[in-house]
Amino acid sequence: MRFDERKEDELRPTTAKVGVIKNAFGSARFQMGKTIAISGVYGPGELHPRRISQSDRAVIKVYYDMLSFSVPDRARPGPDRRDHEISLKIKEAFAPAVIREEFPKTGIYLYTYILQADAGTRCVAINAASLALAQAGIPMRDLVSSVAAGKIGEKFVLDVTKKEEDYGHFVENNKWYGKGAATDVPIAYVPATKEVSLLQLDGEVSEEELKKIVKLGIKGCKKVHEIQVKALKDYYNEEN
Ligand code: UDP
Repeated sequence: MRFDERKEDELRPTTAKVGVIKNAFGSARFQMGKTIAISGVYGPGELHPRRISQSDRAVIKVYYDMLSFSVPDRARPGPDRRDHEISLKIKEAFAPAVIREEFPKTGIYLYTYILQADAGTRCVAINAASLALAQAGIPMRDLVSSVAAGKIGEKFVLDVTKKEEDYGHFVENNKWYGKGAATDVPIAYVPATKEVSLLQLDGEVSEEELKKIVKLGIKGCKKVHEIQVKALKDYYNEEN
């Protein structure tokens, strides 16, 4: 049994809402369990500095930041090394999906902020960003959907929490949780092209085990995709 009593291939309770920041071209909030991301898009528009513009396509600038109050040990305000690395990974995750050639010489600014973190923040940020880009009218081959899968002790599980990530190290009320190691693999997937656009690995598993984890992750991304599509439909049906 998992700590939160989920089945091995079950996502945490997941909610999504499009159009949460009226001033942005597109915006969305995405929540998986206790991890919450908000994303806003500006553009396509003028790019700063101009010298980094590309004559045949838009340049996407990604900002990921985990807000100070999002974690138990206050995070230092402003992006640190980890935030920069994650920004780059999010940018790469969108590369096969966004049709940048439609807006040459422009910039698309994609901001993702973590309001609350309980692991999987890069995935939840991608899910929010995907919806924000869609609402902003940025053409994409498909929404990008993301979730982490992993091997926790001897179990293969979907949508890993912080407690699961810390399996084997986690102490609560002087009690140790878990014997063995934890490996987590964040995955992003573009369903229309069947491309995996983010694949990172923190831990140690065999090649066979990794294949199993990726398969489980893709299954999870497809479930996330359904939730994203519903959020977009709800937005356009309700008010706009
Ligand atoms: N975390 C934290 N403080 C930090 C960085 C991370 O408490 O400065 C926690 C947070 O819950 C985060 C988790 O550790 O979601 C896992 O972080 P990781 O760098 O593996 O990325 P993520 O799983 O969030 O994409």
